[in-house]
Amino acid sequence: MTEHLKHFIAGASFEASDGRCINLVNPVTEQVYGSCARGTVEDVDRAVGAARHQLERGAWSQLDGAQRARLLSKLADLVERDTDVLADLDANAIGRSPLEPRRMDLPNAIANLRAATGWANQLEGRTIPSGGYFGAKTLSYTIREPVGVVGAIVPWNSPLMITVWKLAALLAAGCTVVIKPSEETPQSALHLAALAQEAGFPDGVINVVTGYGGEVGRALCEHPHVAKISFTGSPEAGREIQRTAGVLFKRVALELGGKSPQIVFDDASFEDALRGCALGLFVNQGQICAAGSRILVHRSLADRFAAALADAARAVKVGDPRQPDIQMGPVAKKAQFDRVNRYIQLGIDQGASLLAGGVSSPEQGWFVQPTIFANARNGMAIAQDEIFGPVGTVITFDSEDEAVALANDSTYGLAATVWTADLVRAHRVAAAVKAGAVGINCWSPLDANLPWGGVKASGIGREGGFSGALAYTEEKVITVLLPG
Ligand code: NAD
Repeated sequence: MTEHLKHFIAGASFEASDGRCINLVNPVTEQVYGSCARGTVEDVDRAVGAARHQLERGAWSQLDGAQRARLLSKLADLVERDTDVLADLDANAIGRSPLEPRRMDLPNAIANLRAATGWANQLEGRTIPSGGYFGAKTLSYTIREPVGVVGAIVPWNSPLMITVWKLAALLAAGCTVVIKPSEETPQSALHLAALAQEAGFPDGVINVVTGYGGEVGRALCEHPHVAKISFTGSPEAGREIQRTAGVLFKRVALELGGKSPQIVFDDASFEDALRGCALGLFVNQGQICAAGSRILVHRSLADRFAAALADAARAVKVGDPRQPDIQMGPVAKKAQFDRVNRYIQLGIDQGASLLAGGVSSPEQGWFVQPTIFANARNGMAIAQDEIFGPVGTVITFDSEDEAVALANDSTYGLAATVWTADLVRAHRVAAAVKAGAVGINCWSPLDANLPWGGVKASGIGREGGFSGALAYTEEKVITVLLPG
């Protein structure tokens, strides 16, 4: 046992009110390496109280945009300073190679904090021409106010980056927050809160309560003084959160799962599409909401493309992610290992052709071989359900209309990619695909200035970009009766 993590509330560390803990397990060795406090309803109440007290005191919410921007900028500098520490914390917790968060998650998180310095200064209102008041003239204008205390509930797959997506935007808007990291990955959120304290954020603006979703997460959703829940995670939990929050008229943003199509037309650059599809399938062991796991390929190149993708899958070096030549570590937890293997077996049973990988045997560490299925149908479980592992399903189409119909034949609508040399077709298909984000000849670009979110079972609301910051504000209209 090497570390024990406590809640961070109003600038200080606390054990759970009943003293209970959750073990943290290393996915490579399956050994317990630490623990964190198992938060209770009382702990949540204490943290929300601290966030509410600070909100009402106004030491953050009443600062002008430039002052908020100054602290956000300091926090960005500190996150940049601690890039390797934060990347290692996330990577070790889920068995990912630290090179990935160093190259992707951390630069994106830092860019988000820097972009938020601009958002803090752009929360402007409008003047609105109106009909007056019983014949007298009026002036109506709007202001943007912080929504209040936010409950930020975060998954385990990219813990720091997703925490920062929420934090940067809500801080720019002047909100205070209680963060609930995943029970598997509390480390980087706690380190981030400590960095915010070092940057000079007033105590109580950022609080972290560790623990289970059904306990800490639910208590946040039910708390009367939490104004908004910003949730990233599974559709199942999202559905429950929306139900709970709905009764209390709480604002909710849901960033949920996906089964994103990558549509490869016959005129696409074969190499570019292959590289993009492999990246979209295998980065972070496929444990990524935007994973491009439904590969729709024109019939004329489907066999060749599927075979090349299978070669790419076999070339991925799987093993202990701390070794420099290893590209893919284990999946993050036992439940994930069982889930991925169950779907691989389902793919075989339902008649898809297994070209690479397959069901893994449970040796030490939850390693899954990158797996490619071909000759699949869109109705199969491996084409409809989010597997959240390194599994790609190749489906053939004959026409553009069929490609669009297949892409949209999903309960999800998070992201999509169109691979083609015909830009007219690319824009036509991008418009026709029902998804929150479409890449043309690129897989799901990460950019702090772009809004991110889904439609259908992929969620409600957008985070990222200026739209993300606006989502943490209420628009208030003020009308003045003018004299004369
Ligand atoms: P999960 O839903 O099991 O848990 C996510 C978080 O919610 C955790 O902190 C968990 O403790 C908490 N939680 C669980 N049940 C809850 C409840 N009833 N009330 C309140 N909180 C609850 O998801 P996960 O396994 O951690 O993450 C994987 C899922 O997240 C996948 O579906 C993935 O696609 C999705 N995801 C989406 C995005 C996006 O931007 N759309 C990004 C990353 C991950």
